[in-house]
Amino acid sequence: MNHLAETTSSVVLRGVSLCKSFTLNELSVQALNDVSVDLERGKLTAVMGPSGSGKSTLLHVLGGVDQPTSGSVFIDGVNLTNLSDYERTIIRRREMGFIFQAFNLLPSFDVLSNVMMPLRFDGVQLGIAQQRAIKALALVGLDRRASQRVSALSGGERQRVAIARAMVIEPKIMLADEPTGNLDSASSRNIVELLRKMVTDLGHSVLIVTHDRSIGETADRLIEFADGRIVADSSPINPAVTRV
Ligand code: ADP
Ligand code: MG
Repeated sequence: MNHLAETTSSVVLRGVSLCKSFTLNELSVQALNDVSVDLERGKLTAVMGPSGSGKSTLLHVLGGVDQPTSGSVFIDGVNLTNLSDYERTIIRRREMGFIFQAFNLLPSFDVLSNVMMPLRFDGVQLGIAQQRAIKALALVGLDRRASQRVSALSGGERQRVAIARAMVIEPKIMLADEPTGNLDSASSRNIVELLRKMVTDLGHSVLIVTHDRSIGETADRLIEFADGRIVADSSPINPAVTRV
């Protein structure tokens, strides 16, 4: 397929027959058990399931952080699993935005430095990186806090900084692993509304792993996971859409 056909496809990220096993003290755990999933561009997709069911593993494998034991991952038609570690790192850095429960920011650095870090790693010149970081901070309403240390911010504000850091590279998809897990309910709502705005107003694609059913039910698509498999796949805000 040519490049244009790939980039206009409605599927941004595709997992095909993904298996992942871990061996620990001679005990083998099958964290992903033949998972195939197509994530659509411009949609908010949620993944829910019990603790230990393989949600984080799925996110890591789809995001190229972890290699599957077997199966393939395609980002805009490019097979991540065929690339070298170096090539996969470059794609991850340029095309995937990650958001974690623990924020994973550098608390003693200022907000602006945290947000521009992915650009600086990628060799973007300082002045341009600063401009883009301020723009990303404006999207989450924190541009006026750019010079403050992260350690001075609340949990909800830190997660907004983490979203700005994920957004600054203009990723093809944002992958969020329990992003509200450390937040009170008001801050959680705020984060979910922000992610929704990224999808609806700006056309971004977001995959969110969550324990919170009220979040799952506001997604365009809800994938339910158990024992390393997809056990349900529905469109909660538009139940007329059925999936096989
Ligand atoms: P979830 O995010 O749904 O709680 P995980 O994907 O973290 O589940 O884990 C799925 C299974 O894989 C669990 O049994 C977990 O113990 C195991 N697992 C995950 N990561 C590792 C690892 N790095 N080494 C060994 N086992 C792991
Ligand atoms: Mg997890």
